[in-house]
Amino acid sequence: MYALEKKKCHSGNVKLAKSNLTFQSFGNLSLRINKNAFVIKPSGVNLSKVNYKDYPVIYLNKKINCNNLKPSVDTAFHTEIYKNFEQINCIVHTHSKYATIWAQACKAIPNLGTTHSDYWLGSVPVTKKLTSNQVKKNYEKNIGLNIIKLLKKKFNYGILIANHGPITLGRTLDEALQYSERLEYISEVAYKTLIINRKAKIDKDLVNKHYFRKHGKKSYYGQTR
Ligand SMILES: [Zn+2]
Repeated sequence: MYALEKKKCHSGNVKLAKSNLTFQSFGNLSLRINKNAFVIKPSGVNLSKVNYKDYPVIYLNKKINCNNLKPSVDTAFHTEIYKNFEQINCIVHTHSKYATIWAQACKAIPNLGTTHSDYWLGSVPVTKKLTSNQVKKNYEKNIGLNIIKLLKKKFNYGILIANHGPITLGRTLDEALQYSERLEYISEVAYKTLIINRKAKIDKDLVNKHYFRKHGKKSYYGQTR
């Protein structure tokens, strides 16, 4: 069942593993199947030896899943996101180097340039740190709840998990992967910009111009036919 989605999810995870966005086997990609289910990378496997048909399917409202392979340990936070954002069809979590540096520093990535403004209007936000109790009990679910809180305040396709790393979302698999690449790129560029000029800034009008020419009703970037 769901062979097509499992195959697509596996290809996405293989693509991610071959990119410069991951470190060893860290990171995972999941793909929505329908309103109530998604497929996710299995936990701790060698992707070159996995049969995509054995990918675990997670049902949003059921505790039991009868699948061959154990799902990623991060499944609980993917579940929370799919439950809360119906328009999201793919989630990518990596430990890409520069985004992880900002996440570990628990600092939002300031918008300093037009590349950043093409995809984020403001800073790339970071979730609240977990309390000791939140770490001890239901750790992954609590990460998810903090992500939901942040996204409900202001939705972004890419954010940082405090002390941990980036997570990106997409209406499609390609979009979620592209946001991971964009997030890593702007993380490195912002970090190096601040080394050269720690007071670097961008004007609001320039931010708005770049963001709204690509997003929203008045966008005009790209081909219309
Ligand atoms: Zn992680």
